[in-house]
Amino acid sequence: MRRSIGSKPAHAETPWRDKHLLGLEDLSRGEIESILDRAEHHANRSAQSREKSQALKGRIVFNLFFESSTRTRTSFSLAAKRLSADTQDFSPSGSSLSKGESFIDTARNLEAMGADILVVRHPTPGTPKLLAEHVASAVVNAGDGAHEHPTQALLDLLTIRRAKKTIEGLTVGLLGDIAHSRVARSNIWGLTKLGAKVILCGPPTLVPRGWERLGCEVAHHLDDVLPRCDVVNVLRIQFERQHAGLFPSIGEYSHFYMMTQERVKRARPDFLLLAPGPINRGVELTPEVADGRHSAILDQVSNGLAVRMAVLEMLTSHTGPARDGGE
Ligand code: ASP
Repeated sequence: MRRSIGSKPAHAETPWRDKHLLGLEDLSRGEIESILDRAEHHANRSAQSREKSQALKGRIVFNLFFESSTRTRTSFSLAAKRLSADTQDFSPSGSSLSKGESFIDTARNLEAMGADILVVRHPTPGTPKLLAEHVASAVVNAGDGAHEHPTQALLDLLTIRRAKKTIEGLTVGLLGDIAHSRVARSNIWGLTKLGAKVILCGPPTLVPRGWERLGCEVAHHLDDVLPRCDVVNVLRIQFERQHAGLFPSIGEYSHFYMMTQERVKRARPDFLLLAPGPINRGVELTPEVADGRHSAILDQVSNGLAVRMAVLEMLTSHTGPARDGGE
């Protein structure tokens, strides 16, 4: 149903302190839950109908990706389109960045073209925050180095909540390269705020001691912790962020930490397997496990679209009516 110009969208009363989404560290439990509720609405609606919402009609969403992406970039674009926004991908290669233009000047130029929302992925932690301090558009962090990837964690939370009905009281294992993973950091903030117990598991070089201060348990023996986990989120080894060999060989890593059918047999009968993707079959998990009955990997992708719709929609509730009178 089309609302009149200037009327408040249904979610406008949602508490959200900032007009940006930079990380889950900044959000309260209530704010996270209100995004999940809205995303749930979109997930249910998409299951019934392909009809577009008009919520972002007249808005412009720019994707600025300075690192590779399959799922995140595509689903932000699609989410914006499902809400009737105009969306444009900005590609750093071939842009005037190579002529010396600064990142902030580039973003200001996109803003001068009418950008309402800038979705940013960058290898340097803190880049989305820097941008948010210099532009009037809303900024969404789509992954900044090893720092945060808030929409990934939100879609992980939504997937868990839809499968398990609650997050409070669950034990969630984050498995693998915790030290270099922005997905791990955002998951830790989100899961602990929503009342889950988090176990970080991997080799000592990838799961440094000290992370207990974030309210997590640290473990190095997967076979010991697996039977306690309601959910296992398998994280990729972030070779692109490692500057030295942090374990002897992939074969040894897989021997101790790969999710195999043998390990699945020792896990809880109803455990849920997540992986943010890209998945490396035969390294962090076997093909049988990736495609097996515990796997919610493709549900995560579907839920990612719903989460990104919720985020884009809720951020624009801060920015006033669209310039051309869209709702
Ligand atoms: N796609 C996720 C990210 O961009 C996870 C990964 O790359 O391993 O962080």
